[in-house]
Amino acid sequence: MPKIKKISAREILDGRSYFSLEVKVILDNGLEAKASVPSGVYHNTFELKEFGEDNFNSQSVSGILRAVKIVEALISPALKGIDPTKQREIDDLLLALDGTEDRSHLGVNAIFAVSIACARAASLSKKIELYTYLADLFGTPNITTLPKPIFTMFNGGLYADTNLDFQEYLILSKQETVSGNILMGQAIYQNLGLVLRENGFDTDTGVEGAYAPNLDSSIQALEMIRAAAINTEYGLSKDFSLGLDLGASLFFDKNENKYVFAADHQLISKNSLAGIYQEWFAVHGVDYLEDPLTEESFSDWRELTAMIGDRVLVAGDDLFSSQISRLRQGLKEKAANAMVIKPIQSGTLSEAFECVKLAKKYSYQTIVSTRGGETNDDFIVDFAVATGADYLKSGAPARGERVAKYNRLLEIELLCQEKTQLSK
Ligand code: PGA
Ligand code: ZN
Repeated sequence: MPKIKKISAREILDGRSYFSLEVKVILDNGLEAKASVPSGVYHNTFELKEFGEDNFNSQSVSGILRAVKIVEALISPALKGIDPTKQREIDDLLLALDGTEDRSHLGVNAIFAVSIACARAASLSKKIELYTYLADLFGTPNITTLPKPIFTMFNGGLYADTNLDFQEYLILSKQETVSGNILMGQAIYQNLGLVLRENGFDTDTGVEGAYAPNLDSSIQALEMIRAAAINTEYGLSKDFSLGLDLGASLFFDKNENKYVFAADHQLISKNSLAGIYQEWFAVHGVDYLEDPLTEESFSDWRELTAMIGDRVLVAGDDLFSSQISRLRQGLKEKAANAMVIKPIQSGTLSEAFECVKLAKKYSYQTIVSTRGGETNDDFIVDFAVATGADYLKSGAPARGERVAKYNRLLEIELLCQEKTQLSK
């Protein structure tokens, strides 16, 4: 096998016009593989640190330039001469070189970008598709199903300048094929634009390409999605269901100990939340709730999951922060029944694999998710396919950095059909 000759890095723009990091692994046989990484809109308490010691969570170019230096001056010499197929060895070396719990020495953006660029270089060397290479590495080489897309229709909270409180108003696709699901996501998204225009709302979009009007209530957003679907051939519950990424930590008032539903003019106690969520399920078909509670209390999550978990996917994103230690704690407490994985937040590719494996072992549904600040890198799609994730969540079916992912999923479906790995 070829060996790593050098790793270079540079700053690039992400979809929000913030700076992000791109790395390039150069092998001694002349092959080159690039990877770039996303960043979050909201950096929660438990997240691994980005960029470098004095630039945590800054999206300034100086933070990224620091990461560039870290890759070129520290990581590149340490990985020189290593076989790129030795993923575990590479990831262990990166962890040892960092030497911190929260990755604050090298920064998780530098570590993860290098980790996945090495995997890409290895798949190129082996002349196989990245998802095939990753599936072998993950230990499930036979791909029998593909993840179902979750599309964002409205953005709120920190994701858009709107009065909507929740981060994402979602549709979960239920049809068999990726192509069928993408046709549906596109049709509902386009019709939602028409419904908004006809009713005098603007069609400006938020960070993930989803609509972001000011509305009268959260429920109105759900009703509009349903109204949009009526103009298409797709039906609620048959072809799709509704979901919300509430991002509840951002509207929890610690002093009042209440959740502030500003668009609905309501202050809600934790004890009343379960009733509201049950009503949303029964009346509006909402069967997916991501971060329906703050990220801090596992016991609140346990109570809610016990109450609604037989009907609703209760998905921990900020709760777990894609960390295996947080997931272990959650499993012990029976908090949530689904896990959102943002691979970069696990630290390295090997750690992201471990997270998915553990979640699956305990029959948690797995949702592989992009972040608010994405580049056009589509690595996450091959990761989701290779690990047999149940869902892939990449924002609206619009905007370059979003559709890069959905288009790769479409491509993988075609490749699998060619290999007759999947039934047509
Ligand atoms: P992030 O959130 O941008 O803070 O990572 C994305 C999400 O919650 O889906
Ligand atoms: Zn989320």
